[in-house]
Amino acid sequence: MSMDTHDQAAGWFGEFGGRYVPETLVAALDQLEEAWADAKADPKFDAEFNDLLRDYVGRPTPLTHAPRLTAHAGGASIWLKREDLAHTGAHKINNTIGQALLTRRMGKQRVIAETGAGQHGVATATACARFGLECEVYMGAEDVRRQSLNVFRMKLLGAKVNVVEDGSRTLKDATNAAMRNWMETVDHTHYIIGSVVGPHPFPSLVRTFQSVIGRETRTQCMDMLGRLPDRIVACVGGGSNAAGIFCEFIEDPDVALVGIEAGGRSDQPGDHASTLVHGEPGVLHGSRSIVLQDSDGQTSVVHSCSAGLDYPGVGPEHAHWHASGRVDYRSVPDAKAIEAFCLLSELEGCIPALESAHAIAGAIEDAKSMAPDQHLVINLSGRGDKDAEEARRLLGDLD
Ligand SMILES: *Cc1c(COP(=O)(O)O)cnc(C)c1O
Repeated sequence: MSMDTHDQAAGWFGEFGGRYVPETLVAALDQLEEAWADAKADPKFDAEFNDLLRDYVGRPTPLTHAPRLTAHAGGASIWLKREDLAHTGAHKINNTIGQALLTRRMGKQRVIAETGAGQHGVATATACARFGLECEVYMGAEDVRRQSLNVFRMKLLGAKVNVVEDGSRTLKDATNAAMRNWMETVDHTHYIIGSVVGPHPFPSLVRTFQSVIGRETRTQCMDMLGRLPDRIVACVGGGSNAAGIFCEFIEDPDVALVGIEAGGRSDQPGDHASTLVHGEPGVLHGSRSIVLQDSDGQTSVVHSCSAGLDYPGVGPEHAHWHASGRVDYRSVPDAKAIEAFCLLSELEGCIPALESAHAIAGAIEDAKSMAPDQHLVINLSGRGDKDAEEARRLLGDLD
């Protein structure tokens, strides 16, 4: 893989990252790190991954001009990086295909994953079906109830769904259950983490598998605009779609990078999932990053209209980009995201995921204060078919 220039020793991004795990997992993380180093040095691995991205995922995804959204904002020219057109409808498949290949390389037969809304569960089950790997997905009981269609999809794809009844019965509890299972099964099981979070080497490994988004965007901008874009805007949950597009532009200071977090209902604790905007340094799910927590260090309850952004942590590399000032992070409230969901549908004929709608809302604000000869790229991380039912509930049926 071509990009590892800002991987730092032992998985640290400034003061963030590292490995905060029980002793039983250290050997598995070492094995993964070794398999990953070995794979990167093997041109056959890169070739097979790239073939799968092309023939199975459908890459490269287009970079589409958005003329009516551009006119609506009345400033910079707006472009959409179309991860919504990737197989299964979002960027998550880039990572699960890569990690399924690594699973096979390590000689393991079984995969586990955590899922919140079910999107990472579906992407993992898809990759496992393609490679004939046994797949078990951990999902909180509350999420199973809210996302029953995704539960059915995972079952169709041959995965087993383990319902987690602990705690708030959502993503955080599912992640804890998956980690516990991994400790007992690590000799034959790989844990496919769904974002740029978790203990080293996951944050850099997932970012590298997602960096195909940034490489394609760079090439497409050079081909279509003859230069790099002025600004790139992406939504940030755990941070994988944003890291995948940002990482290829980190060393280009003239390209402004903007991460949009879920502002939810209000700035009050429990009402949002704006980790970098409101959080503090802490350890969550195996690495040191910025975390939403109370004064006792208890992880906060979070809220967003978009299930994929509803997470109290964020990848350690984002915490570092935030601290260094290289990337600007802001939040967009539910109401603005829902407005942007409708706008992109009406103006461009693309129904975006509610996660991606946060990036669209942020980008519209930014585009207004930019010049017409400037270019802004939105990472359209996924399609919104999965959110149509929720949007109907929030908006009421449209006339
Ligand atoms: C899961 C998801 C996200 C959030 O995850 P990141 O790791 O922050 O990218 C964003 N958009 C879509 C469409 C998703 O499915």
